Amino acid sequence: MKKFLIICAAVLMMNSSAFAEELFIDKFISWTDHRDELIDEYTLKHYGMICREITPQAVVVHWTAFGTLESVWRYFYAEEMPDDEGRLNVASQFIVDRDGTIWRLMPENKFARHAIGYNHCAIGIENVGGYKGREDLTEAQLEANVRLIKYLHEKYPTIKYVFGHYQQGKARASGLFIENIPGYYAIKTDPGKKFMSGLREQLEEDGLTFYDP
Ligand SMILES: [Zn+2]
Repeated sequence: MKKFLIICAAVLMMNSSAFAEELFIDKFISWTDHRDELIDEYTLKHYGMICREITPQAVVVHWTAFGTLESVWRYFYAEEMPDDEGRLNVASQFIVDRDGTIWRLMPENKFARHAIGYNHCAIGIENVGGYKGREDLTEAQLEANVRLIKYLHEKYPTIKYVFGHYQQGKARASGLFIENIPGYYAIKTDPGKKFMSGLREQLEEDGLTFYDP
């Protein structure tokens, strides 16, 4: 009996380390010196500091509103935004597909442009869906986001806040918001109240701060 228990514990330990390795697939976007230069330009202009790497203090959850995992990845791959005079392209650290598959697009503490006012301190998770503003994110995506945020919170105890992009106004209560350009703002609805309520239910007891949906 004792031997059986020891074997079970060993199997459990193997499973948890294999699980961590399998949580996401690395599929990095283009990152040359030029991206660093564009980040320097963006962060100086908007945050008044150079910020190629971040100390994560928040996770901002999004939906893509377009495309597939592959097409969103291809869009984020480019260093310059096509319609913004060659400025830094948008991106996020993670994308979650509709079946819950997670791709990591860069090391988590690298700077990504995904949420005005919070990019200097927030990790972005994009979820494929939200077409025409419909709250259509899947149960598999919810479970994947829960696992991913638990992983991030454990790795970066500096993370205190989780909010949806549409909660960017409420999240100013965190004191994290910085934006030097007056009026630089975009109204957002992603990733929907239902999804944020689901995350809150499963993660709030981990000591993370959420806002009323
Ligand atoms: Zn968003």
